[in-house]
Amino acid sequence: MSLSTLDGSLHRGCGGRYALQSESVTVRLSGMAAEVTREFFRCEKCAHEQRTIDQRDAAEKSATEQIRASHDLLVPRQIRQLRESLGLTVAQFADLIYGTPKGIVEGWEKGKYLQNREADALIRSLADRETLERRAAKAGVTLPVVAPAPAAGGAVASTVDGQSVEVTTAG
Ligand SMILES: [Zn+2]
Repeated sequence: MSLSTLDGSLHRGCGGRYALQSESVTVRLSGMAAEVTREFFRCEKCAHEQRTIDQRDAAEKSATEQIRASHDLLVPRQIRQLRESLGLTVAQFADLIYGTPKGIVEGWEKGKYLQNREADALIRSLADRETLERRAAKAGVTLPVVAPAPAAGGAVASTVDGQSVEVTTAG
């Protein structure tokens, strides 16, 4: 059902027409709150109110964005990038965050769920190698072997006979 579907439509119960209205509501997510404007339809004759799924989703999305910005929380893409840069699967990553269910982590990465401040801080802390290794040992997660990141221009650092050399590939 789209946002405009009900505008001007008939309220069969009373013969009146629905008109688009907006209200200010407080949306709470993961223990944080945001004040957002939510649209709804009200029958002009009897004041019966209807809220479509789209209207609810739009308000929740707006609240999510507002909360994320005001609490400086990582966006879904940043969470996925951090996890991938560490070479961890969703299941491993979830284990490092107090054994958070895998589906929740997937929800964070897809923007379906919003991580709370504690989880956000914990995710960020994993970027620190020492913290990562400590948590991995505690959670029984085997970390992938760290491969040196290829430098710009195709230069790859490698060690030959104990000497550090830099190999630059053409192209
Ligand atoms: Zn009505």
